[in-house]
Amino acid sequence: VIVPRTREPGHKFKPFALGLGLSAPWLHRPPRPAHRRVNFNAREQALVDRIKRLKKEAGSHSPSAWTLAKQIPELRLKVDACFLSNPYATHLFLTHLHREVIRPRKLRALLELYPSQNRVIAAKLGRVLDLEPDSIFVGNGAVEIIQAILHRLTRQKILVNLPTFSPYYEFARPDTQVVFNLLRKEEEFRFDPARYLELVRRERPDTVVLINPNNPDGGYIPYAVMLDLLEELRDVPNVIVDESFIHFACEGLGYAYWSVVDEVRRFPNLMVVKSMSKDFGVAGIRAGYAVMAPDRVRTLLDNGYLWNSSGLAEYFFDLYSRPDFQERYERERIRFIRNSRRFFDALARIDGLRVYPTHANFALAELQNGLSAEDLVWRLLVRRGIYTRTCDDKRGLEPGKFVRIAARNRPENSYIIRSLRRLIG
Ligand SMILES: *Cc1c(COP(=O)(O)O)cnc(C)c1O
Repeated sequence: VIVPRTREPGHKFKPFALGLGLSAPWLHRPPRPAHRRVNFNAREQALVDRIKRLKKEAGSHSPSAWTLAKQIPELRLKVDACFLSNPYATHLFLTHLHREVIRPRKLRALLELYPSQNRVIAAKLGRVLDLEPDSIFVGNGAVEIIQAILHRLTRQKILVNLPTFSPYYEFARPDTQVVFNLLRKEEEFRFDPARYLELVRRERPDTVVLINPNNPDGGYIPYAVMLDLLEELRDVPNVIVDESFIHFACEGLGYAYWSVVDEVRRFPNLMVVKSMSKDFGVAGIRAGYAVMAPDRVRTLLDNGYLWNSSGLAEYFFDLYSRPDFQERYERERIRFIRNSRRFFDALARIDGLRVYPTHANFALAELQNGLSAEDLVWRLLVRRGIYTRTCDDKRGLEPGKFVRIAARNRPENSYIIRSLRRLIG
């Protein structure tokens, strides 16, 4: 599937040609399927109209819960199951922040002083991760790193799986062609390595992106398959592996997770992107890093990024470097995975909802009883204060049918399940 690199205003691509003999008109321009309509009363409809406006302004992302709550206070937002994070880890961070920064009156310094320079934070991370500091690029969130790589290292052609996290194609340079590998609903969005490699050989992209587990479907590429893929992709100049959700992937059924970070030594074309937002539930502080060959880090640093962290992000990385924090975090990670698994099982038992297999902290669900995704999402929001994500704007998913629902803490999960039963059942 090939997208010509002409852009319409607002960073939307013009309709593009389909390869691979796939007939998928909704990749082109979403048709509006006929759905069962929901009757909102006048007050609800007025809220829905305001939400829709905010959603439109947010482009292909969603307005943050923060934005919604501020702009539409009447919404009484209770649960954010749209953005993806581990709420137990947020609590852990907050406990430390309170005890070590706020109570001892050190917050002022975090706010008033410059944070350390990028290389100082990289050196600190290098020591704990047992990696060369020169091989770490610290970002203001993973999104900044993705932009940096796409702008500086990618050349003519990038291959991205679809559906995907949209910055991987939205932030490509105008002279970069984007090629998509479509993950198929009929195959539960499973990644097929043989078909993928065939596409790589045919298209010869200079950059490939593998998000593992993938967003928005939660599909997972097992570690052994990943290692084989890295071997096979040796000749591709840039291989991006985005592990923003790897802490939730429980390969086998133990809770150990399998990162390819150490493979950067063996594969100089590999760049492993790590967002701290989801695992540690700290999206607001904008912390992320990537591991890659030192010459690549130097190339990216040529564009700046001197003080691109913040005092809070630096404090987070300090904690992240401490074994006592890591030990506590590990307990919260496992607790969250356990609860999330139960949540996904309960979701899958709701009539009218098809839940796809997930290794992440969210599930992609398909509506099967004629209700449209938007109507469900607005109903959940205005009637129950639950924020979920329609996938109507996600390329590669038939519009009107899919919602992405994030796992939260246990009471919130039960509230989501009860609400869904009431609204769909
Ligand atoms: C959320 C997300 C990111 C960006 O995370 P930030 O660190 O908050 O910028 C990167 N990659 C994927 C796949 C994501 O879902």
